[in-house]
Amino acid sequence: MPRTFASPARYIQAAGALGDLGRLSKQHGDSTLVVADSDVWDIVGEQIQSSFDAVDGTFQHAFFSGECTTEEIDRLTEIASESGVEIVVGVGGGKTIDTAKSVCARSGVAFGSVPTVASTDSPTSSLSIVYGNDGVWETAEQHEFHPDFVLVDSRIIAQAPTRWFVSGIGDALATWYEAKTAWESGGTTVFGDRPTYTGKALAETCHRLLRDHAEGAVRAVKADTVTESVEAVIEAIILLSGLGFENGGLAAAHAIHDGLTRLSAASGATHGEKVMIGLLTQLLLEGEPDDTVRDLVSFARSVGLPVSLAAIGVTSPTREDLLRAGRIACNPDGPMENEPLEITPERVADALLALDSVVE
Ligand SMILES: [Zn+2]
Repeated sequence: MPRTFASPARYIQAAGALGDLGRLSKQHGDSTLVVADSDVWDIVGEQIQSSFDAVDGTFQHAFFSGECTTEEIDRLTEIASESGVEIVVGVGGGKTIDTAKSVCARSGVAFGSVPTVASTDSPTSSLSIVYGNDGVWETAEQHEFHPDFVLVDSRIIAQAPTRWFVSGIGDALATWYEAKTAWESGGTTVFGDRPTYTGKALAETCHRLLRDHAEGAVRAVKADTVTESVEAVIEAIILLSGLGFENGGLAAAHAIHDGLTRLSAASGATHGEKVMIGLLTQLLLEGEPDDTVRDLVSFARSVGLPVSLAAIGVTSPTREDLLRAGRIACNPDGPMENEPLEITPERVADALLALDSVVE
C-alpha cells in the first residue's frame, strides 16, 4: 500500500494577516467570491474590503446561511458559476469553510481558507462535513484538492470566544494519540493509504506544543491578547493537527465523537469537547496505564476541557444510549478500524461508563 502526504499549498499566520487577503486572492484570479455569514462579516467585512482596495482588487460577497447542506452548497455554486469567479474564499468557522470547499470542488476554481476561530483542524484539510436539513451529519466529502492558501489572523482568533479556542485544543490533543495508534496498528489515513513518517512527526510536534503552551495560551486568549504561546497553539490546532490527522490517521477518539453526535443530550457540546471525551475513552479502550489517563485528565482540566460525560451534557445515559453511540463509533467504514484490538459497541459503552469513575 502506498504512503501519501498531502497539504495546503501555503499557510500564513499572523496578527493582522487578514490584510493580505486581497493580494493572495489576486494571485489566483481577478474575480473572487468571499463566503461569510453575517456575524463574521460584521467583524471582518471592513478589513476584507480594505485588503482588496489596497491591491486595486474587487470581490463579491455571498452570505453563508449557517449550515453546510447540499442545498446551501448548490446555491453558492450557482452564484460562483454565474459570476464566473476564479477563486472562492471561505471566511468563518468550520461550516462556512467546508461549504466553500465543496463549492470549489463543484466549480473547479481555486480555494482560500480563512478561519476566524481555532475550533477544529478542518481549515487545512481536504474534507467537508455535510449535514442534512435536520442538522444531522449526512456525509463526509473527500475532495481531490487542498486549500490554495490558509490565512489565519491570530488577532481575530484570540478575540473570538475562548470556548472555541479550548475546543480546538481538544480536537488537536487527540491527533497524536490517534496517529500513534494508526501507525502501530498498520492502519490507513483519510486518503486510504498508509500514514507517512512526516504525518506522525507533525502529530507529535502538535502534541508537544499543546502540552508546553496551551495553559498559558488559554489565559492569554481569555484576555483577548496574542502571545507567542497563543501563536504556537493556533499553529498546533489549525496547521499541525490538520496535517497530522490527514497524514497520520484517525482512531477511536474521532469514532467515539461520531457516536456521541447521535446522543441528543450532547448536542450542545462542540466538536473538540466530544473529541476530548472520545480521546479519554480511547485510552481506556487501549488499556493505557492509569498514570497516562490521569495525566491527560489533569491537563484537560487545566485548559478547561470536559473530562466526563456529564460535562458534555450527558448526565444520566441509559446503557441503550451508550450502545447506540457505540454502534455508530464501530461503523466498519469509520476510524475505529485503525484500533489494534477488536472494539465492539459493548466495549465502547463500558469504557464510556467507566470514564466517570476514572476521572473522579
Ligand atoms: Zn476533529
